[in-house]
Amino acid sequence: MVEMVPYRPLCIVDGCPKHAHGRDKYCSQHLHRVNTHGHPEQLPVTLKLAPYKQQITLWTASADGMKAFNAIVASYEEAAKSFQRDAVAAHNEMMTTGIRHNTMHNQVAEIVSRTSRLKDSRKTVTQLLALGLMLEDQPRSFRSDTAIFFQAVNVFNEDANVRKKLYSKQTGKIETVTRYGKKSARLHLGRWLMKNYVSLGIQLSRQWSKKLAQERREREELHSLIRASA
Ligand SMILES: [Zn+2]
Repeated sequence: MVEMVPYRPLCIVDGCPKHAHGRDKYCSQHLHRVNTHGHPEQLPVTLKLAPYKQQITLWTASADGMKAFNAIVASYEEAAKSFQRDAVAAHNEMMTTGIRHNTMHNQVAEIVSRTSRLKDSRKTVTQLLALGLMLEDQPRSFRSDTAIFFQAVNVFNEDANVRKKLYSKQTGKIETVTRYGKKSARLHLGRWLMKNYVSLGIQLSRQWSKKLAQERREREELHSLIRASA
C-alpha cells in the first residue's frame, strides 16, 4: 500500500528551504517577520538606531536644537493627551452601554495612550527622529513602506510593549509573548508616526547634509584663495 504523504509547499521566500506553515505562504520564521516587522525579510532596526540617537542628543546640545526638540516633544505630548482622552471616553462608553466601539481610531488611541503613559516623551521623540535619520542614511535597511510603518510602531512601543502570559499550542507551555495589536491598527499608527515625527528626522538629516556641503564649499574656496595669493 502506498502511503499518502500530504503535499506541503515550501515557504515562498527566495532560498528558504523550510515548509510553509499551516495554510500560510511562509514558514513560521518568515511569517513571524511579516506579522511583527511588516515584511518577510525585514529585520528589526531598533538595535541599529544607537548612533542616530546619539546624533539627536548632540543636536539638542545646541540652543537652536534644544528649542526645536522641545517644540516637537510638546506637540507629541499634546497629541498623546488627546489620544488618552479618546481612549478613556471609549472605555467609559463601554462601561455604561456595554458596547465596545473597536474602531481604528480607538485601537490607535489605546496603543498611543498606553505607550505615552509608560514611556518618557523625550525618549520617544528621540527614537522617532533617529529612525528618520536612519531612513535617510540607509534606506536599504527597510524592505517596503509597510516595513517602515511597522518599524515606526516597534520603535514607538519599545520598552512599553505589553507582555502577556499565553498558552502556546506549538510548545504546549505557558509562554510570555508580546501583544502587538491588530495589524491594521499598527499600519494606521505607523503612518501617523511617520507623518508627524519620523519625517522630521528625515528633514533634519537633509538640512545637516546641506549645511555640511555648504561648509565644505566655503573651505575649498578659502583654500583656493590662499593658494592663489601664495
Ligand atoms: Zn521561510
